[in-house]
Amino acid sequence: MDAGGARYGRENPTPWVPPPKPAPEAAAPQPRDEDGPNVTIAPLRKLLSSRQTSEPGWRATARADLLRALAVKGCTACGARSSAEQHWMSSFVHETNADPDVRASIRAARGLCAAHLRLAHEQTEAPFVLAIVHEEVAAARIADLGARGRHPAGECPVCTAAARDEATRMQSLCVLFGDAAIRAALRDGDGLCVPHWTSLAAELPPAELPALLDLAAAALADPSLEPGELLAGQHPDLARRTPLLREAMTAQRAWAEDARAVPAAARVLAEAGAGCCAVCRSAQFGAAGYLSWLAGLNDGFRLRLEPGEYSLCGTHLGDLSVTHPSTAEWIAADHLVGARDACAGAIAVLDGIGPRRDAADDALTRLTSLRPCPACHAGATTAERTTALLAAGLHDAAVRAELRAGHGLCADHAPALSRRAGSPLPVEVLRARLELLRWELAEASRRRGWRVRHEPSGPEGTAWLRAPSLLCGDAYLGLPPPATF
Ligand SMILES: [Zn+2]
Ligand SMILES: [Zn+2]
Ligand SMILES: [Zn+2]
Ligand SMILES: [Zn+2]
Repeated sequence: MDAGGARYGRENPTPWVPPPKPAPEAAAPQPRDEDGPNVTIAPLRKLLSSRQTSEPGWRATARADLLRALAVKGCTACGARSSAEQHWMSSFVHETNADPDVRASIRAARGLCAAHLRLAHEQTEAPFVLAIVHEEVAAARIADLGARGRHPAGECPVCTAAARDEATRMQSLCVLFGDAAIRAALRDGDGLCVPHWTSLAAELPPAELPALLDLAAAALADPSLEPGELLAGQHPDLARRTPLLREAMTAQRAWAEDARAVPAAARVLAEAGAGCCAVCRSAQFGAAGYLSWLAGLNDGFRLRLEPGEYSLCGTHLGDLSVTHPSTAEWIAADHLVGARDACAGAIAVLDGIGPRRDAADDALTRLTSLRPCPACHAGATTAERTTALLAAGLHDAAVRAELRAGHGLCADHAPALSRRAGSPLPVEVLRARLELLRWELAEASRRRGWRVRHEPSGPEGTAWLRAPSLLCGDAYLGLPPPATF
């Protein structure tokens, strides 16, 4: 992954800090932001060379493509991203699932990320295709357990494809921004979301910045644009998270009540015997608990919050719009006012001192509020505390017995717990679960064969649904895997 991958990374295309994949090690607390932006804007991925973009043929084609794309509803860069995701998955299911290079890219990434696994689950062919994919990933994970050192994290190939198309769209915008028709299309259509206005501003020469800020100001004042999407970009995964979110909220309340009322000795037994990866669950439930807390504050408390305490990433603002819509509306409206003020301030700065690079950088930091998401921070902290609790509890034979009998930790968190606790048990449990899962997945694929159609299918038919909770622990938002599809 190149340097731009930090921004055009896995689940979250916004410059706000993305929700972390379950950290293999104890997650370090994210820095608190009290005084303003503290997240740097990474440069765009450079996919097109200047030689390519200066060719007359490139310009005409890119211009026509861009004008077409800008006529479509929503942020055009977010749109490029989500089209690429859909296209990759559709090609994979219908054409490329047997392609050795594609399969190798999934193995190298140790599977699809949680968001793209949820996208795969929308496909009717998911049971067949994913059984084969998970079997290969399980084999790679088992090999990792025997290897010295850790497997370097590869990028989910769907994320890679989405980031590539998003970066190409942004580069076209950057090169063609001076074109009057492109500017008119940006003004007359939905334009970009705030994160993508900011990314574009960071790439443009200072002389172009006043025009960009005028366009962004007009978009921020457009009442027809949905505030949450305008502020945080599109998150198509939200539709796929939605069926899980309410169930996860109910489960989170019971889990949080236990955490409050039950002594540590009983709680560690419950965590060790959880029906999914306890650390993944803690990350999800810790974040959900923060969102519930925000939603439960009365108006007086809200007024005393620092903006950084409700500066949510796109994923968590989206989650909140499902579980507590009025709080999400309040947060989006508040941040929209802030973004409008910042945009007006940036315009005033440039009006006063002219379009200089230092003024441009100042304007950028005013345009958007780049703060770490407090819900992501709460999730990472809760996951860390649960890992610490399990590490402490593994000295107790009863806790070890619960871990042996339960689901066990996922492929990211079991090795981390083993290292932390100095105990091979979490990895031994994971290896045992993965070996059996791999057999079930192979068996499910075998039983789809024409020659064995006389054999009735058994419980191995749902192994592809259970696999994500071991291979990609946060796919079900901290819930145990569903029993049926
Ligand atoms: Zn966008
Ligand atoms: Zn992905
Ligand atoms: Zn996990
Ligand atoms: Zn977040």
